[in-house]
Amino acid sequence: LQRLRARLARSNSALGKGLLALLSRGQLDEEAWEEVEDTLLAADLGVQATTELVDKLRTRVKIENTTDEASVRRWLHEDLLALVDPSMDRSVANSRIEGRPAVVLVVGVNGTGKTTTVGKLARVLVAEDKDVVLGAADTFRAAAADQLQTWGERVGVPTIRSDREGADPAAVAFDAVKAGAELEADVVVIDTAGRLHNKVGLMDELGKVKRVIEKQSPVDEVLLVLDATTGQNGLRQAEVFGQVVDVTGIVLTKLDGTAKGGIVVAVQRQLGVPVKLVGLGEGPDDLAPFDPEAFVSAILD
Ligand code: GDP
Repeated sequence: LQRLRARLARSNSALGKGLLALLSRGQLDEEAWEEVEDTLLAADLGVQATTELVDKLRTRVKIENTTDEASVRRWLHEDLLALVDPSMDRSVANSRIEGRPAVVLVVGVNGTGKTTTVGKLARVLVAEDKDVVLGAADTFRAAAADQLQTWGERVGVPTIRSDREGADPAAVAFDAVKAGAELEADVVVIDTAGRLHNKVGLMDELGKVKRVIEKQSPVDEVLLVLDATTGQNGLRQAEVFGQVVDVTGIVLTKLDGTAKGGIVVAVQRQLGVPVKLVGLGEGPDDLAPFDPEAFVSAILD
């Protein structure tokens, strides 16, 4: 965790350092506040959150009549933390529920890191002593099932898949949940396809996968995987997926490759659900629970 924190700090400190330098330079005129706004917008915080944050800071600076660095740092910390909303429940379903495995559906556009995330999540769950079954319902991309199976073998959990390219993803998902029940697993984690070029097709397919699973078990968690480096594009994707399925949590991948950590705030606002996990690299251990306090500290320290 320490190592991941350091990596997050490296990628995001540009934001915090820039802000602190601007804010503690004394004499905050209109131009300086615009620079603060630009810095926040450049970090993908979004217009609404940026406006709120800057209004709050301006008021504080005025009332307290100081731009002393320690004070500014404290205010920034408090206000950023409030934006990230530490009160949200960020737990991921990981245990049997009423005598059946928890079902976690992982959705998102191809290339965002969906399959990798399912593999890393399996590893986290196994480390917590959970029995896991993986479902390779991304049957559109032939390599996806192989990729997931490789993760499964590496982690030591079974992967339910079809050998037929273009097989019905809903059928594979159904089989995975069935296998999970038979094996008395704790959790079934299902990878899905994410072709966004055809919104209607995606809606039909994801909707069907969910409906078919629900013939035998409730779906407890729908994790939407978003690539943190895609900015506004990622937000649009979030909107589309939000219309198709009830997303319960967001996984923000590739946070190691961007200084645009503000996307955490923007995407939570967009969907009204918490960022639960973050991807901080391509390695098997590079998935971490999202910790608001550590995140804000990483930005500012
Ligand atoms: P999918 O098409 O959404 O299933 O995407 P993949 O899981 O195949 O991942 C696409 C690429 O992103 C791969 O090269 C992954 O190694 C890489 N990737 C996934 N998560 C992360 C992350 O958190 N950080 C970085 N740097 N790369 C990642």
